[in-house]
Formats: sequence, C-alpha cells, structure tokens
Amino acid sequence: MSAWRVPLTDIAVPEEDVRAVLDCLESGWLTMGPRTAAFEQALGAWIDTPHAITVSSGTAALHLACVAAGLGAGDEVIVPAVTFVASASAPRYVGAEPVLCDARGPHDFNIDPEDAARRITPRTRAIVGVHFCGYPAEAQALRELCDAHGLILIEDCAQAIGARIDDDGRQVGTIGDFGAFSFFSKKQLCVGEGGMVATADEQRAGRVRLLRSHAMTSSTWDRHRGHDPAYDVVDVGFNYRLDEPRAALGLSRLARLEESIERRRATVRAYRERLAPIAGLEIPFDEQAVERSSHFAFPVLLADRAERDRFRSELKANGIQTTWYPALHSFTEYQRFAPDGGLPQAEAIADRHCALPLSSSMDEAEIDAVVDAVAAVLA
Ligand SMILES: *Cc1c(COP(=O)(O)O)cnc(C)c1O
Repeated sequence: MSAWRVPLTDIAVPEEDVRAVLDCLESGWLTMGPRTAAFEQALGAWIDTPHAITVSSGTAALHLACVAAGLGAGDEVIVPAVTFVASASAPRYVGAEPVLCDARGPHDFNIDPEDAARRITPRTRAIVGVHFCGYPAEAQALRELCDAHGLILIEDCAQAIGARIDDDGRQVGTIGDFGAFSFFSKKQLCVGEGGMVATADEQRAGRVRLLRSHAMTSSTWDRHRGHDPAYDVVDVGFNYRLDEPRAALGLSRLARLEESIERRRATVRAYRERLAPIAGLEIPFDEQAVERSSHFAFPVLLADRAERDRFRSELKANGIQTTWYPALHSFTEYQRFAPDGGLPQAEAIADRHCALPLSSSMDEAEIDAVVDAVAAVLA
C-alpha cells in the first residue's frame, strides 16, 4: 500500500470491522438510522457526556457548535494559531472573526490561557480550545476564563478523543459548552469521514440534532418506521448526517479504542525513553501530559527551521514519513489575522517541530527503524 518503510499513520481494519460494515450493507438501510443511534449511545457512555450527536465530519461538528452557540457577524472568537485550519474556518462560516492566540511554548504546544485572556475584547464571544496532537489543553483554566467573561468554550477534540483533563479521568469535550470530535481517517477513532458534537446542555443538543438534518422535525428513519410522514422545517439546517456504514464501522472500532490509545501511549513512552539521549532533539510535553494524552501524533523539536527541514528530508530518504503543522497566520488566507507583534511561541513551534510516525499498530521493528534513523540523522 505504501512506499514508506514507516508511514506516518497506518490503519488496521480487522475482520470484525469488515463484518460490521457488511452487515450494515446487507441490512439495506444506509442513511442515519439504528446503527447511528447505537453509535451515539456508545459514544455518549464512553466519553461520559449526556448528548453525543454524530455528524459528517469534525469540521461540521465545529460549525454546528458555532451555530448552536449563537455566534455570528461582529463576534470575535479566540483560536490558537497552532492547530489545523478547521478550528478557525468554523467561526468564519457563521461570520465571526477569528482572533489568533499564542501557544504556551516549545514544552507545550497548546493554547496559552494567559495570552487568550489578553486578547479578550468587548466583542469576544467564544474560545476554541484545541487539544493539540492528543495532549489536553489547560481545560480548567480555559473554563474559568470563559466563565469570568461570559464566553462560550468550544473544545476542538478532533485530535484528542479519549484524552483526560485531570486525574479523575474526566475526558476532553466534557468541560466546554461543546466538544467537537473527528472520525477522519487519520484520527484515533477513524471511519474515513465523520464527527460528533458533545454537549451537556439539552437545548443546545436539540438544536445541533435539528440542524444536522435540514432542521426537519422528523428523520427518514422515523418515517420508515411508520411515524407521521409529515414534517416541518423550523430553521435553516444542513445535511451533516453520518451514514450507517460509517456508524457501524465506528461502533466496531470504538470497542477497541481504549486499547488502541494505550498502544499508542506505549509507543510514545518507548520513543521518549530512547530518543531522550540524542543531542539536537527536544521532546515536548511532560510525563503527566503523556499519561493524559490520547496520542494523535508524536511531535519533536529541532534547533531551528533549517535543521528541521534537513531532518525531515533525511528521514524521508530513509523511508520515514513525517509531517508538521504551519501556524495558521502563515497561510495566505490567514495572514491578515496575524496580530501586531506576531505570535512568537506559535511561530517557534511551527519552525522547529515535526511529527514522527505513530499508530496503534506500530511494532518494535518500526520503532527501532525510526529511532535508529533519527540517531543517524542527528549524529
Ligand atoms: C482533523 C481536525 C479537524 C477537522 O476534522 P475533519 O473531520 O477532518 O473535518 C478540526 N480540528 C482539528 C484540530 C483537526 O485536527
């Protein structure tokens, strides 16, 4: 499948997943229905959220969170510059303006709550708290900041399903007013394309549920089961439904998620131990963060941009795939959102980091191959 000796991510699809999708196809019901409902039930229990509403992508989840939060033109939404672009596109879909904010630093790539606080203005309405690479952001600090200023907290959990915000094991996505999750094929719980909104608020949950399917008061599945064929349309909605084959796949994979995150964590522990002695390489995040993270990716830091680029190209020559995340304001579309004075921590992280291969199916030989290649490149 891949020309890489060690690809960035590798997705294992065991027979039971294939069987679950085949069963769904053979059932003859393909759009949102009983399997989607079962998937939502299981997700709600797994994350411990009262309302888990599946949608067609993580981006759709963020968009619906912004709509249900009542964000609109003239509003400002604070978004970290170190993230994937969808964190900032979602507020823009509803006409709000993203206000980019800095990261904590090379030791923790997540949003700096103190910098977020400095960027609050009378127009600020929300903060998008991204849990980057699976490592939980300072959720409690963000919650307190939002409460103090009457702001909505949207947690972008696209990279962090299963990450924990405290020692009580509370999951990301449950402290914000909304948690937005992704089931994209590179994420920890992958089905190809898919997402979910988590919220504890019944009214907001109802609104998200309504808006994901054209704001219609009944679903195709309801009508198929003989419910009233008439329906009303009560708002401007979207088609953001998840379909049944993906729900079946998600439900099958959810049963192994805990174990699969634990395998990623074991690989990260091994990487950290074996890479620590290598001069020229810095490893972000501390042990506590490692234990709480659900490990979407394993980032490391090099001395500067030139050295990072050399490191990546030499690893590539060795068959090791890597990636990195530009800061949002380095993109053409987002340059105009760069604040005066820039975002020094975000820029340093963007210049210096790259992510090494990480997936739940990585074996010892692959870890060896990566560690040996890194050691050789930095020797
Ligand atoms: C992947 C991702 C998204 C978007 O999820 P999709 O399912 O791909 O739409 C949003 N935010 C972050 C931080 C992501 O990594």
